Amino acid sequence: MLPYLSERFGNPSGAHAVSRQARTAVEDARDVMARALGADSGEVVFTAGGTEAINLAITGSLAARPGTVVCSAVEHAAVLESCRPHPHRLVGVDPQGVVDLEALACCLDDEVALVSIMLANNEVGTVQRLSDVVAVVRRRAPRAFVHTDAVQAFPWLDVAALAADCDLVSISAHKFGGPKGVGALVARSGASLRPVLRGGSQERGRRAGTHNVAGIVGMAAAASVTAETREATVARVGQLRHRLVEGLLSGVEGARETVGRASKVAGNCHMTFRGAESEALLVLLDEAGVCASAGSACASGALEPSHVLRAIGLPEEEAGSALRLSLGYCTGDDDVDAALAVVPKAVSALRS
Ligand code: PLP
Repeated sequence: MLPYLSERFGNPSGAHAVSRQARTAVEDARDVMARALGADSGEVVFTAGGTEAINLAITGSLAARPGTVVCSAVEHAAVLESCRPHPHRLVGVDPQGVVDLEALACCLDDEVALVSIMLANNEVGTVQRLSDVVAVVRRRAPRAFVHTDAVQAFPWLDVAALAADCDLVSISAHKFGGPKGVGALVARSGASLRPVLRGGSQERGRRAGTHNVAGIVGMAAAASVTAETREATVARVGQLRHRLVEGLLSGVEGARETVGRASKVAGNCHMTFRGAESEALLVLLDEAGVCASAGSACASGALEPSHVLRAIGLPEEEAGSALRLSLGYCTGDDDVDAALAVVPKAVSALRS
């Protein structure tokens, strides 16, 4: 990224030599992202993060083809809030957070222009069976486009394969080691979109504004490393997560895993500790150097139980004792050791 913040600080939309260097960097990055996402280069739209990609997918496609939008009850706020101004229907999930396909089928008809179902959940980690979702949509609402929020999925799952049937796919660089404030939307050639940000004709008229060249270059570098190392990372982090969860289940009485490990991404550890209130637990963990969360990072500080825990049917008092410990590609054995030393003590301090 550094050259694009210094000697190659050109605007890729310009015509002179420094601009051309920047444009080449953006187009090379587009090719890398297209490969990592199983798309053609022309289908990749660079955005300022996951939220903007999702807004463009939902608001932009409904502006081009108005209609009802259907999404799951466990979507990220970026999806829920983008759907809210339009006629919308919410589909429930089972206790593992998996979309109820029969309920989905009941929500679908000719009015539906868009269905948005996330690939991996940001709180409890549940992975959706997207190909089943798409099959139901194609059968029951043939005119609908399918969007998937793959923001949490990309570090752990082969998004290119799993979202191959989706018309629109959103990702965000900071979930896989890239910089914050840059993301991408795959908009397959058949998916009509109106721009949400209006102005210049960048990104083939789909997203106005000067490109964040360094951010885009950084995202592409992170995406190619992630795709190359994903299998090994998933195996290694999956083992660490297993040790963490087993250690907490055996070390803390009344601890419970929210969603089974078989149904979710490798880096997610989401548990409840009956009798220990989440916000108080987070304070103790923070003091002890463990950075954790209860709901989503965007909703931190919210006193209400998260909409995701509500949707999977967790009783209120259990949802109030939720803790999310996220593991990533740089998490090691010592991090798990630290968490196992700190969390049981913090829970018992709160209970007593
Ligand atoms: N979707 C999901 C599932 C997320 O977890 C996030 C961020 O946490 C977003 C969307 C929003 O992405 P960004 O933070 O890049 O705007």
